[in-house]
Amino acid sequence: MLDVVVLGAGLAGLSAARDLRRAGCEVTLLEARDRIGGRVLQTTLDDGRVVQLGGELIGTAHTSYRALVDELGLTLRESYSAEPGETVWDIDDSVLTGDPAPWMSDEDHADYARVVGLFVDLAKGVDPDNPWAHPDAAALDSVSFHAWLRSVGARDSVVRMFELAKAGLAADSLKRTSLLAELRKAAVAGDGLSNYYDVEQWTKFTVAEGSATVAARMAEELRDHIRLSSVVTAIDVHPDRVEVVLATGEVVTAANVICAIPVAPLRRIAISGLSAERLRALRRVRNSLTAKVVAAYETSFWRDLGKNGSSYSDGLVGSTWIQGPGVISALVAPSQLAFHLAGDQSARDRDALDALARMYGSQAAQPTALFTREWSTEPFTLGYMAHYAPGDLTAIGPTHSQPEGRFFVAGSDYWVAGYMEGAVRTGRAAAEGVLSR
Ligand SMILES: Cc1cc2nc3c(=O)[nH]c(=O)nc-3n(C[C@H](O)[C@H](O)[C@H](O)COP(=O)(O)OP(=O)(O)OC[C@H]3O[C@@H](n4cnc5c(N)ncnc54)[C@H](O)[C@@H]3O)c2cc1C
Repeated sequence: MLDVVVLGAGLAGLSAARDLRRAGCEVTLLEARDRIGGRVLQTTLDDGRVVQLGGELIGTAHTSYRALVDELGLTLRESYSAEPGETVWDIDDSVLTGDPAPWMSDEDHADYARVVGLFVDLAKGVDPDNPWAHPDAAALDSVSFHAWLRSVGARDSVVRMFELAKAGLAADSLKRTSLLAELRKAAVAGDGLSNYYDVEQWTKFTVAEGSATVAARMAEELRDHIRLSSVVTAIDVHPDRVEVVLATGEVVTAANVICAIPVAPLRRIAISGLSAERLRALRRVRNSLTAKVVAAYETSFWRDLGKNGSSYSDGLVGSTWIQGPGVISALVAPSQLAFHLAGDQSARDRDALDALARMYGSQAAQPTALFTREWSTEPFTLGYMAHYAPGDLTAIGPTHSQPEGRFFVAGSDYWVAGYMEGAVRTGRAAAEGVLSR
């Protein structure tokens, strides 16, 4: 019998399986797709540039991911944050350029700073690994971030700024965001917490070789222990073993299972042998939904316009940023996703290019390559990043990421708000959990 069967060859499953193999365990990693990597995926353009179609950016707070990058002999480079020029704001049918936001008055900026100060003070009391331990956890979770902003008297423009920031990250709206979840995410910064969203801590870097290379390097180490095109349909946890059933009817038996399948595809898998509470918590976690658009050009033409390629918008793409020389990344805001998905591919491409052209001029409508990736409808992802509406964190409770018997869980969806950091952190923790048994 195998020591461990790991389900899902994203960063979480791969990092768990790699640690287990290195510790001498007999491991098999089952992956539904015909490729590894899950939500990290890259492609190479004809001219050799590598472009990221999934997870891309990391920051100083992403300690597990950075340690893994080091171990794998990969390197980090600075991200869009090093790009010269100014930010574009495409809101209320007009396009403005400037930093700080030129559509806000001095009074608005002062109020933003005041509100961020209150938010930071509140976040300092939240333990990101155990937000449920906060004495007011239930109350903070019952309130939306929007309601809290109103309760502290935030000006309309300040609320707007936060709304744009959320859309830019392709997170759901302020009204659908738990205040506790938002505080928890900020609290990841620890002693360095001084802002609502610190670029240095979250997005200052990217892997120079491409973030999917992190997954590929781990897969090279695991080689014969990965089985692609193996769709899991059922997990039966017994007192002495775990049985994993594949779509072909084959049963894989192991002493333990590490389940690193995203929360939405996991809902389609029949699970027996877990407590009702454990199962309910697993099923309750959800993702916000987005699509990623990547446009490649021969040059970084936005520089000539004094723009840095970063933008915020209340239109189709909530944000753009520079992925690398001549390459723009963009995320479709969740509120725009239904419209995006309703069109055929040519409509989706045209709408995305129209959005880019509004901000960066007609040259932006003529990329040498254009990619749109609808992660939210890919059957083995069905999401993007963990998102907690008011009440979700309390309902899910601290057990959702804990092992139960021979069942271990891993994946970015079980860490604060997702991210590649969450995948690596929880993957390695699950492997450690199995090994410490
Ligand atoms: C568009 C986009 C942009 C992002 N940008 C960033 C970013 O800039 N920075 C950042 O840190 N994070 C980013 N993320 C998030 C990050 O990519 C993910 O959080 C992380 O890669 C998830 O890793 P994971 O291993 O937990 O899950 P996944 O990568 O989703 O891996 C899960 C695996 O399980 C497999 N699977 C699913 N169902 C089954 C089944 N039934 N049987 C067997 N296998 C199954 C899947 O095929 C997949 O390979 C982004 C994500 C997206 C989609």
